[in-house]
Amino acid sequence: MEELYQLGIKEASELLSSGEISPEELLEAVLKRIDEVEDKVKAFVTVTKDEAYKRLEELKSADSTTPLYAIPLAIKDNICIKGVRTTCSSKILENFIPPYESTVTERLNNKGYVLVGKTNLDEFAMGSSTENSGFFTTRNPWNTDCVPGGSSGGSAAAVAAGECIGAIGSDTGGSIRQPAAFCGVVGMKPTYGRVSRYGLVAFASSLDQIGPITKSVYDAAVLLNVISGHDHRDSTSAPVEVPDYTETLKENIKGLRLGVPKEYFIEGLDREVEDSVKEALKVLQELGCVVKEISLPHTGYAVATYYILATSEASSNLARYDGVKYGFRAESKELLQMYQETRAQGFGAEVKRRIMLGTYALSAGYYDAYYRKAQQVRTLIKNDFDEAFKEVDIIVTPTTPTPAFRIGEKVSDPLQMYLNDIFTISVNLAGGPAISVPCGFSSEGLPIGVQFIGRHFDEETVLKVAYNYERATEWHKRRAEL
Ligand code: GLN
Repeated sequence: MEELYQLGIKEASELLSSGEISPEELLEAVLKRIDEVEDKVKAFVTVTKDEAYKRLEELKSADSTTPLYAIPLAIKDNICIKGVRTTCSSKILENFIPPYESTVTERLNNKGYVLVGKTNLDEFAMGSSTENSGFFTTRNPWNTDCVPGGSSGGSAAAVAAGECIGAIGSDTGGSIRQPAAFCGVVGMKPTYGRVSRYGLVAFASSLDQIGPITKSVYDAAVLLNVISGHDHRDSTSAPVEVPDYTETLKENIKGLRLGVPKEYFIEGLDREVEDSVKEALKVLQELGCVVKEISLPHTGYAVATYYILATSEASSNLARYDGVKYGFRAESKELLQMYQETRAQGFGAEVKRRIMLGTYALSAGYYDAYYRKAQQVRTLIKNDFDEAFKEVDIIVTPTTPTPAFRIGEKVSDPLQMYLNDIFTISVNLAGGPAISVPCGFSSEGLPIGVQFIGRHFDEETVLKVAYNYERATEWHKRRAEL
């Protein structure tokens, strides 16, 4: 049998409910794995070992038939859990202990999960490699000289390394899908509004969405079932019914129309990534899907549009960290100086860069030229998707232009770093759901991901295509050796 820490949610749940393993055995296997490999991977900001054992005690009197009963999960450290330090991997929140619980973790709690720890991220989720973390860089379990992707790099690395059974991340411009692709696991961004953002520390509120990072598509469906649905505490959460994704994903995909946008097969796309995605399309054709070329003509504007809107929203959202309301406060004799010093010392370079960019784009005289214009282009990008979805059911693209890059390779060049999200960002701007699934390995042994994008609130079709593809291939079965 596989080691227990390598199990996914589905397999672990089956073994637990048949009594073949106990909650203690499962938790111990995961915590032991963390002890063994965490030095190399550095996925966690906080490991909640004592809380996890306490939680098992509590679960003894709970309903053992809930879908996440005794399942050890890791949560990205920008999601608030009552009484557990939540840092956003920022010095400014280093000692922040939320007095309230996010809706997502409350729902996970109600279904029996066990928290094993809070995972590292790029500070305030701004980045693509975890190198912007205020604390340390997480490493890719497939090659520890490489980045795990970001910003949910800690969650993706923890899943790939077997340091948890599944995880939760957040995705503003690709932060679930890109690290999932780099780490050879499944990562899904739901439709904007599908999952409550209550308790998610805001980066760019019109783009942020919480989603699962897992070892299989089925597991993503299990977590999505639990975390989805309307929440009166988030005014942007949508009152849309949630189907049972674990049932709908089994449906046949014969006759489904897949669109391949020509704008995504561009210069700079790695040869091995391109070949793997084309291979994936062949597999889907053999499963009965019809593949056709489509066009998303405004793709070339997505990165620029995103970096105006995301930084504008961030500059506003991050105004609250002033040394008075939360976390860190710099020593100072006078109020204004205290504000300034707190922010100067508390925020890292990338966060400061974005606050400045956003403040600039929103300022009088530039607002029309940048912010308003970017909003208009956002609509054009969304319209591209709406048009495409008149002809196809799912859009298929690479998740990233290259496999994981080396630690340090792009830190000194923010533009290169930003371009890493070229294939994921449009989806956040348009608002729909998308998943990244393993579809191959580079000659260096690094994972490659394929992205399936769907219509708004049509997570069902996205998961269905991903599930059928996964079942027809073996990529998801490989495990990183550490
Ligand atoms: N890498 C992108 C950024 O730096 C997206 C991050 C995210 O999705 N949180 O903003």
